[in-house]
Amino acid sequence: MVSVMKVIFLGTSGSMPTQSRSSASLVIKRKGEVIMFDCGEGTQRRMVEAHVGFRRSMKIFISHLHGDHLLGLPGLIQTMTLLQREKELEIYGPIGLLDFIKAFSLVLGEPGFPVKIYEIKSHGIVRDEEEYQVIAVEADHMMPSYSYVLEEKPIPGVFYPEKAKELGVPEGPLWGKLQHGHDVTLKDGTKVKASDIVGPSRKGIKIAYSGDTKPTSVFAEASESSDLMIHEATFDNSLKEKADENYHSTAEQAAIIAKKAEVKQLVLTHISSRYPDASQLLIEAKRVFDKTIIAEDLMVLEVDRDGLSVIPVKN
Ligand SMILES: [Zn+2]
Ligand SMILES: [Zn+2]
Repeated sequence: MVSVMKVIFLGTSGSMPTQSRSSASLVIKRKGEVIMFDCGEGTQRRMVEAHVGFRRSMKIFISHLHGDHLLGLPGLIQTMTLLQREKELEIYGPIGLLDFIKAFSLVLGEPGFPVKIYEIKSHGIVRDEEEYQVIAVEADHMMPSYSYVLEEKPIPGVFYPEKAKELGVPEGPLWGKLQHGHDVTLKDGTKVKASDIVGPSRKGIKIAYSGDTKPTSVFAEASESSDLMIHEATFDNSLKEKADENYHSTAEQAAIIAKKAEVKQLVLTHISSRYPDASQLLIEAKRVFDKTIIAEDLMVLEVDRDGLSVIPVKN
């Protein structure tokens, strides 16, 4: 089945919300599942506007424990309880996340459904699903912070049963092995190569999200050839020093990382409230990496293996 990922930006502001931008959050919808990155205040409101739904299979990945990336969790969990969610909710994030959830549960009451917290201690694969992985990459912010890379596993190539029969492979478990790219040996000792029976495997979709961070080469490496890189761009070039002091990136720095990683598309987010008009950030980024756009709240991107389309925000 051809996979499509729908990326919905729920909050695109840096540090504090503005009239048009809510605090940091985005979701990726993939085959009925919702994968959220960050959950700033106001996230549930934007979820309603974007028709994301509160009862779906869902995982949340928090980049770091600054309020603008996680204060949406208490309200979201409370709404899910009110709506009698039953499915488990998995939340991943740096150490301290468990204390945060415990602290508000103490006052608001325990969630009415299972909430599983996974505290990430170092970089690496934090979730390994059958069809995709989520990798945490250490970010360079003021506190333990992670960037995340969501990558689909290669899709096995097309299986040709006629060819299998022709080469004398009996229908059964050996077919399964071949379908997954493994060579097999028949009872009579004949070796059959998967590549003779199965077409080439196809690359999955890869999306990288920086969270808050100074530009880092580790993130560039981990995001290599991504279909989409979502990078914070809190400041413009004139505030490069401020970006450095506050462990953030400028739009130009984000573009340099995207160029280095040879991604197909860059989206800038976490835009400081000082820019009611972010066009200067876009100009500075595009000078380095032309395939750049600025995220807007409720903007939707559809990513498939052939490319990406932007669905404009409905007003
Ligand atoms: Zn932030
Ligand atoms: Zn931060």
